[in-house]
Amino acid sequence: MSVALEIRNLHVNVEDKPILRGVNLTIKQGEVHALMGPNGSGKSTLANALLGNPAYEITAGQVIFDGKDLMEMAADERSRVGLFLAFQYPVSIPGVTLANFLRLAINARMKAADPDSKGISVSDFRKLMKAKMDMLGMDHSFAGRYLNEGFSGGEKKRAEILQMAVLQPRIAILDETDSGLDIDALRVVSEGVNTLRGPDLGVLVITHYQRILNYIQPQVVHVMYQGRIVESGGPELALKLEEAGYDWIREQVAE
Ligand code: ADP
Ligand code: MG
Repeated sequence: MSVALEIRNLHVNVEDKPILRGVNLTIKQGEVHALMGPNGSGKSTLANALLGNPAYEITAGQVIFDGKDLMEMAADERSRVGLFLAFQYPVSIPGVTLANFLRLAINARMKAADPDSKGISVSDFRKLMKAKMDMLGMDHSFAGRYLNEGFSGGEKKRAEILQMAVLQPRIAILDETDSGLDIDALRVVSEGVNTLRGPDLGVLVITHYQRILNYIQPQVVHVMYQGRIVESGGPELALKLEEAGYDWIREQVAE
């Protein structure tokens, strides 16, 4: 059965200030959506709220994943039921390689499903990593890199995509880097999503970048402005944004 993430009338405050003001959005397995919008419109706030970041206070609305209330779940439980959210790894852990980290993540999940599980064997893990890195066209040496130590924006995204390939979520939310218009990072994310997309994966790609269609073909494009989704449509909506920018959205909302 296909799984969906349903965001219903979500209101989120940051430091007591309303930022999201009634977001409605449903993403199903097998669908790729793009969430676009000018800087400061609330895109990352949505990602943070879904992640359960305590600085983002949900004041109204609901988030349902696979028929269950997401807000009742701890962060690791969200991951276990098949929701993948960006920044699922700490900013930097000295002495831990990407491979170490991914093996820990797999073992944690196996132990959660079965307390007697011994986790994945070293040889099975090596095979899995090799297969996923080959699929994504990544150099094997990348797995030996120390986590985030000197990672560029693009490398952080590459690590995130590899994590996604290994954990095989049902729905993934990928937010762009804070720097916004990092084309290298967007290219990495797009190639990863294009490789991993299929009937079992639903994706929300969050980006400010208006030329997203050069990299990825979302079925649905949403535009967020002032904490609400003000337009949704097909890929033609991204084309319109590429040509006309966000000004018409601002004017339309002002009317
Ligand atoms: P976007 O990702 O669309 O650029 P954000 O969600 O980052 O937008 O920001 C939306 C608004 O919420 C901005 O006014 C921003 O300053 C505010 N905001 C978001 N996160 C925080 C935070 N952690 N602390 C204070 N203000 C925040
Ligand atoms: Mg953002």
